Amino acid sequence: MAESKVRKAAAPKPAAKKAAVKPKKPESQLAMVRRARRINRELAELYPYAHPELDFDNPFQLLVATVLSAQTTDLRVNQTTPALFAKYPTPEDMAAAVPEELEELIRPTGFFRNKAKSLLGLSTALRDEFGGEVPGRLEDLVTLPGVGRKTANVVLGNAFGVPGITVDTHFGRLARRFGWTAEEDPVKVEAAVAAIFPTSEWTMLSHRVVFHGRRVCHAQKPACGACPVAGLCPSYGVGVTDPEKAAGLLKYELAGKPGQRLRPPADFPGEAAARADAVAHDGRVADLATADGEGDAA
Ligand code: SF4
Repeated sequence: MAESKVRKAAAPKPAAKKAAVKPKKPESQLAMVRRARRINRELAELYPYAHPELDFDNPFQLLVATVLSAQTTDLRVNQTTPALFAKYPTPEDMAAAVPEELEELIRPTGFFRNKAKSLLGLSTALRDEFGGEVPGRLEDLVTLPGVGRKTANVVLGNAFGVPGITVDTHFGRLARRFGWTAEEDPVKVEAAVAAIFPTSEWTMLSHRVVFHGRRVCHAQKPACGACPVAGLCPSYGVGVTDPEKAAGLLKYELAGKPGQRLRPPADFPGEAAARADAVAHDGRVADLATADGEGDAA
């Protein structure tokens, strides 16, 4: 008690402290762009294996998996889609599904009634308007039920090789924390980030930023003290800065744990995620990746 009083008394006077603080110069646009590109380069070194975290074999599967990924984790979607694609391998098969049966199969992903409606609607549209093929143009993709710009960009970037910026909840949060934009609206975030980076970087930048958001820069408890781009981030300090405590917040392969894909790419340094039937024995799909309560809501 006595000691804390002494400490208080010895603390610098508020007036003196105030006088020492110099107003910070606002960052120029050019400096921000340089810093942003450096962050991208650092993230590329940190995650050379960054990839879409949904399992898929063709554009139709990626489209369906992306629609299912709203408000849940990619892991949960990956644990759900094998049975779904076994039963409905093509848009024609899915368009002819009995709604209740489709709902039951996708129930573990949440919001299953609305998602089933979207899947039936988009499969029917693919069958009737696009010859059973997923179109490779943004303006066509966004006409499909349940498909917005984010989903369209995921499909274009990863199934068609068309560069796109995918603004999901992680990307938007990190773009603001990095000081790339103050916008909240995903379309405005996309436009702001598109102006900073060359088109050729858009798809991989999206993967790297989302990887970082899922592993280090979490919504609730960012691991600032274990963040390799902390020196370039104006938001350093919004999260845990103690290095040891921050290291304990890292996720997936950075924590020596499995990733989200049941079938990860060959260069992924972590383990594959477990199938739903390997981790749940009580009829529910266990979700090992959501211990922190963060979904991949988009
Ligand atoms: S320093 Fe903190 S806020 Fe900035 S990117 Fe790293 S974890 Fe996120």
